[in-house]
Amino acid sequence: MTEVIYEVDTFDKVYKLISNSLDIQLDKYDFQLCRFCGEKNPNKFKSVAHIIPELTGNKELKYFNECDNCNNKFSKYENDLQLFGGIKNILAGIKGKKYPKHKDYKHYFQAYNSKGGVIFKSLKETGALNFSDEKISIKSETQKFKPRYIQKAFVKIALSLLPKNELKKLTKTIEWLNNPNDDFTPSNHPIFLLIERENNIPLRKPLALVYKRINDSNSPEFTLVFHYSFFSYQLFIPFNENDENLDYSKLILPLNPGVITDNKNFKEVAFNHYYMTTLKKSRLTDYFDRLTK
Ligand SMILES: [Zn+2]
Repeated sequence: MTEVIYEVDTFDKVYKLISNSLDIQLDKYDFQLCRFCGEKNPNKFKSVAHIIPELTGNKELKYFNECDNCNNKFSKYENDLQLFGGIKNILAGIKGKKYPKHKDYKHYFQAYNSKGGVIFKSLKETGALNFSDEKISIKSETQKFKPRYIQKAFVKIALSLLPKNELKKLTKTIEWLNNPNDDFTPSNHPIFLLIERENNIPLRKPLALVYKRINDSNSPEFTLVFHYSFFSYQLFIPFNENDENLDYSKLILPLNPGVITDNKNFKEVAFNHYYMTTLKKSRLTDYFDRLTK
């Protein structure tokens, strides 16, 4: 039997911050050398790549170690990340290449950003949209996404941020990332757990942090913390050679306090968790409730 142990008060003992998107040091000698496939032909670096997807609000952090081919491949994963954020990505008002559009096929409405704010187009009255003077209440369903693609979009951020010397033991991770149809299909493997918390106020600019294990806890060596829009996420980097000796039947997952606690009240711990293993298209039902006063 597999057991997952979440620890809520050990994170700082187990992990040390090794990379921060606000303070990233890029190696200038690696200009136009693809980190993911080894491409180094300058003609294959025509498109503008980003360390953190544009859709999460990142304009500034461009990336010179991702070739056009890999950029194109990863855009599929990022497209699903956009869908996973659902209606909340519209409400957050974050502009990527352009503003996203949300289509809810179950509740017959669309939502998108315009100059004046968020526009809702309802094609049929279903009770999913409730706007009064005091309260906004929305029930929505995401469009279909592949959970494993979202995991890949996140892992790609972590691999872009990691110092180069850490990549040697992540060859299998890169191989897995490079293959949109990889055949690694264990059901609900704990390394694919995604921890999520929703915040009250959205972030306009994303923040990505990579941490490394510094003690002998039975925990994955690398973990990514990612904040964007209304969301805070934490996940672990799979297929690391250094993690081959872990006992996956009782994996310990220390959770980052910045993800699982409200930033107003650090005592209250709450989070959602999802297995992001499957390639099967999935949907989520989403609720958004806010008092307007
Ligand atoms: Zn490449």
